[in-house]
Amino acid sequence: MNKPLKSLEAIVAELEGYDPQALQADRVGEFLSQLVNPVTEQETLGIFQALDRTLAQDVISPISVPPHDNSAMDGYAFVGAQLSPSQALHLRVVGTALAGAAWHGTVQAGECVKIMTGAVMPAGLDTVVPQELAEGVGEHIHVAPGRLQAGDNRRHLGEDVKAGHAALRRGERLGPAALGLLASLGIAQVSVLRRLRVAYFSTGNEILSVGEPPREGAVYDSNRYTVFGLLTRLGCEVLDLGVVPDTPAALEAAFLNAAQQADAIITSGGVSVGEADYTKAMMKKLGDVAFWKIAMRPGRPMAVGRIGRSVLFGLPGNPVAVMVTFLAFVRPALLQMMGRTSPAPPLLKARSLEPLRKKPGRTEYQRGTVTLQANGSLAVRTTGNQGSGVLSSMVQANGLIVLHHQQGDVAAGDEVDVMMFDGVI
Ligand code: AMP
Ligand code: MG
Repeated sequence: MNKPLKSLEAIVAELEGYDPQALQADRVGEFLSQLVNPVTEQETLGIFQALDRTLAQDVISPISVPPHDNSAMDGYAFVGAQLSPSQALHLRVVGTALAGAAWHGTVQAGECVKIMTGAVMPAGLDTVVPQELAEGVGEHIHVAPGRLQAGDNRRHLGEDVKAGHAALRRGERLGPAALGLLASLGIAQVSVLRRLRVAYFSTGNEILSVGEPPREGAVYDSNRYTVFGLLTRLGCEVLDLGVVPDTPAALEAAFLNAAQQADAIITSGGVSVGEADYTKAMMKKLGDVAFWKIAMRPGRPMAVGRIGRSVLFGLPGNPVAVMVTFLAFVRPALLQMMGRTSPAPPLLKARSLEPLRKKPGRTEYQRGTVTLQANGSLAVRTTGNQGSGVLSSMVQANGLIVLHHQQGDVAAGDEVDVMMFDGVI
């Protein structure tokens, strides 16, 4: 069951230190987690189709994996209690257990069964001496003392997954390992949450679409493409509404169209102070929307709220600011809407290879290239011009250096936190 939708007023009333004119970056997440609700509709999919989807229910295993005790090595199975710390153990080979077919003979003291990796352990036997530790010829082998302990090289029934236990939990992403695990349980279909639908458009009179001829004072729309990439990587269903002209009629139509179809709406541009265009006015008219100045760089202006039942993320226009605010705020909120319960990946520590200037009182996200040093530790260097419009800095970077709100200047050699892109975007 979902919690009822809370008005922005109600969220703000409970939020400590809420100042929309100078909002601390780490307050944004708290606010957004109250604003959004996970989708609830489920669908049943085959394993291949379920890649990267969110599991809607716990998966209770119908079987144990492995389904029987089996050998972890090619070797000889025997009763481990016969091992002595001082004397070699001599064994006679009385049969062969192959993988895929149980061997049903009986084994006496002083006897063993040749066994292959994965083959069922014959009844009563608990230890396997690997081929390379079993000396001897033909039907007789011996195991030197001190090389092996009773129980070695036996895999236990259910040591991976036990029948009747939850093998996967609702809210988990079905990554490659989870797909394989489902298959190992013999499960062909799985209940997942429906995909999140996210509509996005770019605003601004100076924004050209790719294909249009260049015009003085105008720039090509890059945000549409970065947002497309970010959302697609996340596994969202995307609704691309293009560049919306800066007229009240066009903006109103775009917002209403988006709100009717999508769980979330992402716009870029038109939310900073002194904007000449109609974006902010239309957000205010159609929805319950807060306009923030966030104490951060790049970023700062952002609008959040709801239009109808859709959650609105009004991002700044600058291309790097779009990506940074998406990664820092929008992505975690969308994951919550997608029903994910997995915690965010941890920030990593890396040594800064250069001094970094930083004013306390705002959070900075600098583009960085993280490398592995010869001594095994991580180091990071910024990628040149950190201007919020310099998109090439994002292309070169493999992570963001997060300089926290209270943090001051960083000296070369100091440790800093980094948020890696790999596996994320
Ligand atoms: P704004 O937040 O609307 O003041 O925009 C800030 C800066 O970002 C301006 O220089 C805009 O030209 C630029 N910008 C806004 N939207 C886009 C876009 N979709 N693609 C590339 N640049 C943009
Ligand atoms: Mg603008």
